[in-house]
Amino acid sequence: MTSKDVLQVGALSAARGEKRYGVCEFAVQSQPYRLPLWLIHGTADGPTLVVTAGVHAAEYASIAAALEVGRSLDPRDLRGRVIVLPVMNQPAFTARSIYVCPLDGRNLNRVFPGDPSGTASEQIAHWVFANVISQADYYVDLHGGDLVEALVPFTIFFRTGDERVDQKSFEMAQVFGIPILVSSETPGSAFSAASRAGIPSILAESGGQGIWTREDVARHTNGLDRLLRHFGMISGAAPEPVPFTLLDRFLWLRSEHEGFWYPGVAVGESVQTGQNLGFVKDGEGRVLQSAVSPADGRVLFIVSSLAINPVDPLLAVGA
Ligand SMILES: [Zn+2]
Repeated sequence: MTSKDVLQVGALSAARGEKRYGVCEFAVQSQPYRLPLWLIHGTADGPTLVVTAGVHAAEYASIAAALEVGRSLDPRDLRGRVIVLPVMNQPAFTARSIYVCPLDGRNLNRVFPGDPSGTASEQIAHWVFANVISQADYYVDLHGGDLVEALVPFTIFFRTGDERVDQKSFEMAQVFGIPILVSSETPGSAFSAASRAGIPSILAESGGQGIWTREDVARHTNGLDRLLRHFGMISGAAPEPVPFTLLDRFLWLRSEHEGFWYPGVAVGESVQTGQNLGFVKDGEGRVLQSAVSPADGRVLFIVSSLAINPVDPLLAVGA
């Protein structure tokens, strides 16, 4: 039996033509960590696609989409293999934690490819990277605005300098079908680490503020369906090209103060260099900080929380 005859993650495996849902258990800080996943092993040969969601565990449209795709894919219709992790950051999901994993207060999407002897998040990242993402020919990480973030849908990919990987990642970003593309590295993110490891990867953003509308979820499921058709992993016509705007800078503005955040623009709005985008104020209404646009571009996300802390993101401009 060659390795291609069995699809395996941890103790969970699926032979050709099988689909398995299960929970992989491994140690994080010497405590059992439970990771739910699907293994969908097609009857015919093809590439391996890894789909993850719930790295940020309150980005519900992405989690709902991963659940839907994991539940609905049929190995008899599949050429190749699909591994779906619907909720990578399970402790954060249970706690409804924004941004960070409650086990260590770290942002899981800043610690990839992880460290087996590091903090809880670094250990989770390491296990997932070594056991799941490293099996991918193509990798898609589903995200959205967090509980306190509004955003316009967009897809990020990272140009590593390796032409083969970069071309494929750009192609995947286009095929996914969201019309705003951002070329940027997010250091420590799963998709950036995978790209550096030679795996074409994208991160897609849809939904936000704890809301997961049918439309927000469908943007992710449609994107995955388009990719599966594009790679010939399921039957169906090649997806229609979607006209897109490519932004090659992703500029985050952060708070320098504890206070109250008053955004002055809407998500998706076009802004100019030097334009005021909002204020951080104190309780009396004094301006502590003016958020100034660093470039001409589009507002891609806005933090919608009135409460703001030092280093918290305020918004981001794609340029
Ligand atoms: Zn996210």
